Amino acid sequence: MPPLSRAGTMPTLTLPGRSAVIAAESDVLVIGGGPAGLGAAVGAAQAGAEVVLVERYGFLGGNATAALVNPISSSHTQTGPTVPGRAIRLMPQDHGPGEPAIAGVLSNLVERLVAAGGAISPSERTGNVVPIDPELFKLVALDMLDDAGVKYLLHSFASGVLGHDHIEGVILEGKSGPIVVRAEAIVDATGDGDIAVRAGAPFEVGREEDGLVQPMSLLFRMMQFDAAAFDSYVEAHPDQWRGDYGLWDLVHQAEEAGELDLPREDILMFATPHETEVSINSTRVTRVLGTDVWDLSEAEWRGHQQMRQVAAFLKKYVPGFANSYVGQSGASVGIRETRRIVSEYQLTADDVLEARKFPDVIARGTYPIDIHNPTGAGTVLKRLPLGEAYDIPLRCLLPKRVDNLLVAGRCISGTHEAHSSYRVMPICMATGQAAGACAAIASLTGRPPREVPAEEVQRELGRQGADLRGVA
Ligand SMILES: Cc1cc2nc3c(=O)[nH]c(=O)nc-3n(C[C@H](O)[C@H](O)[C@H](O)COP(=O)(O)OP(=O)(O)OC[C@H]3O[C@@H](n4cnc5c(N)ncnc54)[C@H](O)[C@@H]3O)c2cc1C
Repeated sequence: MPPLSRAGTMPTLTLPGRSAVIAAESDVLVIGGGPAGLGAAVGAAQAGAEVVLVERYGFLGGNATAALVNPISSSHTQTGPTVPGRAIRLMPQDHGPGEPAIAGVLSNLVERLVAAGGAISPSERTGNVVPIDPELFKLVALDMLDDAGVKYLLHSFASGVLGHDHIEGVILEGKSGPIVVRAEAIVDATGDGDIAVRAGAPFEVGREEDGLVQPMSLLFRMMQFDAAAFDSYVEAHPDQWRGDYGLWDLVHQAEEAGELDLPREDILMFATPHETEVSINSTRVTRVLGTDVWDLSEAEWRGHQQMRQVAAFLKKYVPGFANSYVGQSGASVGIRETRRIVSEYQLTADDVLEARKFPDVIARGTYPIDIHNPTGAGTVLKRLPLGEAYDIPLRCLLPKRVDNLLVAGRCISGTHEAHSSYRVMPICMATGQAAGACAAIASLTGRPPREVPAEEVQRELGRQGADLRGVA
């Protein structure tokens, strides 16, 4: 039975007024504990600010843990084509490993994860992607906040702001009733730009022609996978792979038998740090928006129906999966794209594909333009020139109309195409660290973030070990 759906034009009513507890007053307030929020909180704390981070779930990590997104994509430049079956088998690439373009908080996270047995180091073997264990990610993220001296409040959903244009405080909802946290500077790392929109910042959604966004995907972990049996199949069927995607013969058999009928045409799987586990990214829910609870409910329903099909297909048709089972699905369907907050500069596809450089660079990216079709099958993939990285200017983090707010992560300012590149976790973490550093400098020196010169932010990021191609 599908969930409750939107019933045309719905009646409205006015809610009674209420009071709230003021839980904290801080230099910097970060809303959202995903990759961007983690980067922002640590970046702000390392810059000397008192920091509070607020997260709606009971754990940190955002899409990495709540949606089981795996792996952390490469933060290195690309030096050649990928090889068949690499994603799941982590085979050596047939070319050099590329140069890292992101360091700072990301490097620290990856080092800690590797030390805890929760990640595979970026290397030639992995093509520089970093397969992760989501449970260890949650633990390491907490350790990073503890070590940086960041205070946090979990199970708290930010529903509104006090003030317009200048945010006096953020309103949080939870089991304790409404709570307010005040801060001099705020970083919106909600992925959806929730705070920026409540404060009156302009935003865009989706592609220019029809406003449609990339599809959602419910990710899941298959346990008791037999890597040797799978590898033998891949070795014997090299013609059934195109880059990271394969199993075409088996997919077609299942489709002909009426046992597989998915919006996505291929099966995408990734290795994890555990030999007997595979991460599956093959469901696709189109024409839904992650800021709409009716759409989200429908997406969870459709995602789970598709997961059932994919898991049954793997068990029945694919060598290595006969004894496997679904160990976990995302606590939330994975959301690739919602609002993009319009800021002082909007990053474009040309900026990404021409690997443009900006004097106010505060983060860099190497990930291709990667647009999963908003209406059905197919994915557009456009790579940067080999060996290149693009710059993200500080202006992309400074929303128009609101003076004490920065955005970080997947809701920063850019076009639909550019977003499809900077949305990946390493880049979100880097823009988060930059937003945190700028928010801290602004708050500690009594200036609005947009009056902080980029050179000051770059110097601070350089001090924190970020990689800004030598600018800092
Ligand atoms: C299906 C899928 C596959 C992907 N594949 C990859 C991949 O292979 N590699 C890769 O690197 N990236 C991948 N990505 C992209 C990447 O996971 C996300 O874009 C990235 O996590 C965005 O980081 P973020 O911190 O900006 O937002 P999010 O990860 O969305 O984190 C936002 C955080 O804010 C919290 N939050 C939101 N609203 C509120 C609120 N109002 N109040 C309080 N808290 C709030 C959320 O609970 C969450 O913890 C994928 C994404 C999806 C959906």
